[in-house]
Amino acid sequence: IIEIAGLRKWFGTFQVLQDIALTVARGERIVICGPSGSGKSTLIRCVNSLERYQEGRLVVDGYDLGAGQKNIDTVRAEVGMVFQQFNLFPHLTVMENCMLAPMKVRGTRKKEAQELAMRFLTRVRIADQALKYPAQLSGGQQQRVAIARALCMTPKIMLFDEPTSALDPEMVKEVLDTMVGLAEDGMTMLCVTHEMGFARKVADRVIFMDAGQIVEMGKPEPFFANPQNPRTQAFLGQLL
Ligand code: ATP
Ligand code: MG
Repeated sequence: IIEIAGLRKWFGTFQVLQDIALTVARGERIVICGPSGSGKSTLIRCVNSLERYQEGRLVVDGYDLGAGQKNIDTVRAEVGMVFQQFNLFPHLTVMENCMLAPMKVRGTRKKEAQELAMRFLTRVRIADQALKYPAQLSGGQQQRVAIARALCMTPKIMLFDEPTSALDPEMVKEVLDTMVGLAEDGMTMLCVTHEMGFARKVADRVIFMDAGQIVEMGKPEPFFANPQNPRTQAFLGQLL
C-alpha cells in the first residue's frame, strides 16, 4: 500500500533523507525508531505529503505523490496522522473536532458526521467527553480524541509521530492500548515511537533510522535480540 524507492530530501543544503527504500503491505504494522534528528518525522510526513521530496518515488495506495497536487489531496484524505502534540482545535468541542474533516473534506452530512464521531469516540472509550473542549481533558484523553478524529476520515493508513512522548507516564498506556486495538483490527500503521514494548507486541517490522538512512530493518524478535548494526546496538543499549 506504500512504496518508497530512492527517496531523497534536502532542507536547503542539508540532506535529511538519503536513499530511503521501504515497501509496506496492506495491514502491516511498522515501528520506526532512531535518534533525534535522524529523519523519522520527515519520512512519515512525506507519506502524508506534509513534506515534499526532491528525488525518488513515493506511491501511496496507488497514487504517485511525485505526480502533482491532485493526488496529494486524495492521499491526505486516506492517510490519518497523529502527532506528539495532539493538535486538536482548541475552540471546538471533542465532537466538533471529529466532525470537521469528514464534513469539509468528504462532504459528509452533519447528522452522519455526528454518528461517525460518536462511533469512533466510543471506540477510543471517550464518548462521555464528547461535549467538552480539549483543554478540559487530560493529555491521554486528548490524544485518544486525536486518534478518533483521524479515524473519522476512515483512513487506509495511520501515521503516528511519537504519540506518547508528550504524555505523563500514567497516560501512556491508555494511548498505547488504543493503538494496539487498531493494530489488531488490521489497520496499516507506521509508528514513530520508542515504546519498545509496543513494538514487540504489534510490529511486523521494526526500522532503525540514523542520519537520514534506514540502517536496519527486521522482525521485532531478531531486531531486539540480535541487532546487526553497531549504531542500532548502541541506540537500543541506551533505551534499556
Ligand atoms: P526527533 O526524534 O527529534 O523527532 P526526527 O528523527 O523526527 O527527530 P526530523 O524531525 O525528521 O527528525 O528532522 C531531521 C533533520 O531535519 C533534523 O536535523 C532537523 O533539524 C532537520 N529539519 C527538520 N525539519 C526542518 C525544516 N523545516 N527545515 C530545516 N531543517 C529541518
Ligand atoms: Mg520527530
